[in-house]
Amino acid sequence: MTFRTKIFLTALSAAALAVLAATLLVSWSVRNHLEARIEHELATEARLAAEVLSHRDVATDAQLDAEADALGAILTARVTFIAADGRVVGDSQLTPEQIQAVENHGTRPEIVQALRQGAGSARRHSTTLSADMMYVAVPVRSAASPDLAVVRLSLPLTEVDRQLARVRAFAALGFGAGVLAAVVLTWTLAAPLARRLRSIEARAARYQHGDFARTTPDYGEDEIGAVARTLDALAYEFDARVAALGDDRARMQAILAGMIEGVIVVNEHGRLQLANAAARRLLRIDGAVEGRHYPEIVRHPGVARQISAALAGRAPESVELTGVGRDAASTLIARTAPVASPGGRGAVVVLHDITDLKRADQIRRDFVANVSHELRTPLTAIRGYVEAMADAGPEDARRFLEIVGRHTRRMERLVHDLLRLARLDAGQEALDRVPCSVESLFMAVEADVSNLIATRRQTVARIVAPEAATVSGDPVKLQDALRNLLENATNYSPEGSRITMQAERRRDRLVLSVEDEGPGIPDADLERVFERFYRVDKSRTRDGRDPGGTGLGLAIVKHLIELHGGSVRASNRTPHGAVFTIALPLE
Ligand code: ADP
Repeated sequence: MTFRTKIFLTALSAAALAVLAATLLVSWSVRNHLEARIEHELATEARLAAEVLSHRDVATDAQLDAEADALGAILTARVTFIAADGRVVGDSQLTPEQIQAVENHGTRPEIVQALRQGAGSARRHSTTLSADMMYVAVPVRSAASPDLAVVRLSLPLTEVDRQLARVRAFAALGFGAGVLAAVVLTWTLAAPLARRLRSIEARAARYQHGDFARTTPDYGEDEIGAVARTLDALAYEFDARVAALGDDRARMQAILAGMIEGVIVVNEHGRLQLANAAARRLLRIDGAVEGRHYPEIVRHPGVARQISAALAGRAPESVELTGVGRDAASTLIARTAPVASPGGRGAVVVLHDITDLKRADQIRRDFVANVSHELRTPLTAIRGYVEAMADAGPEDARRFLEIVGRHTRRMERLVHDLLRLARLDAGQEALDRVPCSVESLFMAVEADVSNLIATRRQTVARIVAPEAATVSGDPVKLQDALRNLLENATNYSPEGSRITMQAERRRDRLVLSVEDEGPGIPDADLERVFERFYRVDKSRTRDGRDPGGTGLGLAIVKHLIELHGGSVRASNRTPHGAVFTIALPLE
């Protein structure tokens, strides 16, 4: 039911009730008043008639009836004479025959009352006249007719009914006016109210659709205005909270998405609430997983066991998962903990990819093993020759001493290279960058290795492009790197071969290369030659002699060049020979 209909019906009911109450009251009052007046008039007329009769000389019934007719004609009321025994002896509206048939009136209340109290009245429906009647009776004393006891006057109350009908007609008119007033009230009062309510409803609908744009309409100062303002305040508060929640959620999602650790949240029913990008990547989960049961998604039995333990409130041990994640060689560690969730107890799984840590650990172990091995070989040799020297002749002893000396120098080089690598690893070697002449660098390096080159009757060509004449770098470190490369080129290429040191500009890089005519490096090993202690062929000696190298040279070169922000790589040239290329940033 619309607001307007309600107001209309209320106004209408109020009008109807008021009109009804007024009608009842007025009817009651009018009826009372009219009836009292009629009764009074009839009583007066009855007394008059009694007085007249007491002086009249009427004796027979016929005379009495004629007298009643005469009085009735004057008084307009019906006049009835009743004898002391209740018999009707005259009536202004009945013929003598009819009077004979009239029943005895001795028990009629007005007659009984008149005889006892001197006057009596009654109101009742007359079946003879089929109308409500007023009866008033007074006693009468007539010397001529001692039988006559009471004179009664009666009048139909049609006048009263007529008056009441008029009252009702006015009431109907009043009700009509009430309906009109209700309509007018509805239009003048309800229409603006309904309009205001509709505008508040429209606003609420806007809020429902998430439009919280702030405007300040004039709501008015009454209760409706207060309700509307409260609604606005609620909506703005709600909007602010939703925005804050959204911010929190976005922040949390950004954190989760940015984490390298995988995070999985399981609710108290064992259903996945969240799996961040890292978790999806590590466990190779595709598609939407939220709401799914965890054993369907987390297929690793160790992790599934952890989750069920956490859901039962225990703090499970962490588990290591191998072959899960990026590739078959990767290792994850999963830690699971119970967490309080709104509906009970959930679980959070955090997955750490420890593949790199494991690899670093393996490299460290290999390194220690390699160092031990590299040191043990010369040490064993030294011990063997020293022991042999006890029984050797002077000629052998000198040879043995030479060998011992060579192994000692090898150990010295190894320790020297290890210390250098350790310093480089620890970032303890500062870079002293200055513009250096490439030609001077090449010449200094060649001079450093000149003895070896001369022994092996090799030739060195230096080609420096004009635009690559100067390089920005630490001259000592660049010289160390280039010397290492030139030494390797000499050591690993045949006698009499040619080695080329070259400098050129390639886009924004200055490229220095050392090229030889040796056997080159197998393609599979091109990347690995820069690893510590990595040698292409462990048994291969440099041109049949003791290798003398530590296997750390290229690792140091790589470090030194990377310190400059550059890179170094190995390749092969045709038909054969190795090429080591250093690319340095121009500035
Ligand atoms: P080493 O002290 O053994 O020379 P490096 O780190 O300098 O150690 O070199 C690592 C390995 O790379 C060498 O053992 C060798 O097998 C290979 N290598 C380096 N330079 C050359 C080259 N110019 N020609 C062929 N192989 C080379």
